[in-house]
Amino acid sequence: MTVTRFAPSPTGRLHVGNLRPALLNWLHARKQGGQFVLRIDDTDAERSKEEHVDAIKRDLDWLGLGWDRFERQSERLARYDAAADELRASGRLYPCYETASELDIRRKIQRQAGKPPVYDRAALKLTDEDRAKLEAEGRRPHWRFKLDQTRVTWTDGIRGDTNVDCASVSDPVLIREDGGYLYTLCSVCDDIDFGITDVIRGEDHVTNTATQIQIFDAMGGRPTAFAHHSLLVDEEGASLSKRLGSLTLESIREQGIEPLALLSYMARLGSSDPIEPRASHAELIEGFDLSRYGRAPARFSMGDLAALNTRTLHVKPYADVASLLREADVPDAIAEPFWHLIRENIDGLDGIPNWVAILNGGHAPVVDPDDTDYVTLALARLDAAKPWGAETWKAVTTDLKAETGRKGRALFMPLRKALTGRNDGPDMAALLPLLKR
Ligand code: GLU
Repeated sequence: MTVTRFAPSPTGRLHVGNLRPALLNWLHARKQGGQFVLRIDDTDAERSKEEHVDAIKRDLDWLGLGWDRFERQSERLARYDAAADELRASGRLYPCYETASELDIRRKIQRQAGKPPVYDRAALKLTDEDRAKLEAEGRRPHWRFKLDQTRVTWTDGIRGDTNVDCASVSDPVLIREDGGYLYTLCSVCDDIDFGITDVIRGEDHVTNTATQIQIFDAMGGRPTAFAHHSLLVDEEGASLSKRLGSLTLESIREQGIEPLALLSYMARLGSSDPIEPRASHAELIEGFDLSRYGRAPARFSMGDLAALNTRTLHVKPYADVASLLREADVPDAIAEPFWHLIRENIDGLDGIPNWVAILNGGHAPVVDPDDTDYVTLALARLDAAKPWGAETWKAVTTDLKAETGRKGRALFMPLRKALTGRNDGPDMAALLPLLKR
């Protein structure tokens, strides 16, 4: 069975950049009839905050991206201890004592000499005596995974055949000086234990994947399938990374964007499928195909999202707004036809009260002075035609045309303005029977 996971670090609010892996993993699991795991990567105790965990759940709830299993890394430290012991025993995890600034200087020297800034494994040459001396100085080790300096290859679900030469990658640190575990190790343990079959994440993780495939192998686990999606850029093609802080899901929600609009937009961004408003999660799942995503950066535009939001509203099913309409005191008997009439005439759900007021006659009628006599006559004719039905508008305006000689815009617009207070809106023939008598 397909099992995917979304693994955010609770160090801030989710933004559109995080939504991409969340959504792709969710869609992939749902499409395959599999499971979706929400995993909180919170081993960095200092930066992880409980309020962010709550906000992540709230954001996913808002979007309707439910999970089948919830896990957090901070509750699995014993498992990581055991994994680290195992790697130490097999000689794949070794202690290092360099400080951050020492490593920094070394990298600068390497760069100046035209060499890649790869960790030189100096710590592997330390004797027991050297280590004892360093520890006596008060230094605590951090621990690196000893990579096989080979080329790691995999068939990426988006990028196709991919390879990384691990000879040009630094041995990754798996345990910090303070004993804290880094996600690189924890993630592999979790992916093995939770039976994760597919990992979809940003292309900034490609090198990580090569090292994690080696860690899977070292731990006797079978690597998951991997797919790396491109990262978001702005409309000019510049990286969005610095602006993501202002593109949180929370702020998008506050701007009145509908969940399905955001999902419809994000699910197709960077894929070769057209961006269309989808009326349901089922429709999104149905149309999802990982192989349609490409390597080109995905252009995120708030303007495009807002436009799609409006289009999503125009196809929003009645069932989704039924309770909202009831709260707005729209009688049940006419709520559905009413919604179908107005949905294409509003830009957001906050446009509903305006049309409810029109329904109830609580708007200011607009009558041009030149039209006063005509409107008075027309309203009298409409009044006489009660009860209003599907044919009333046509019958009354046909008679008015003959009686007054008016036609086209001059025949219809004064009436629309008098009855609705505006010069645009839905088909009057359909609206008339719904208006409060
Ligand atoms: N916590 C990691 C991140 O947010 C997870 C990456 C992954 O999907 O493996 O980057």
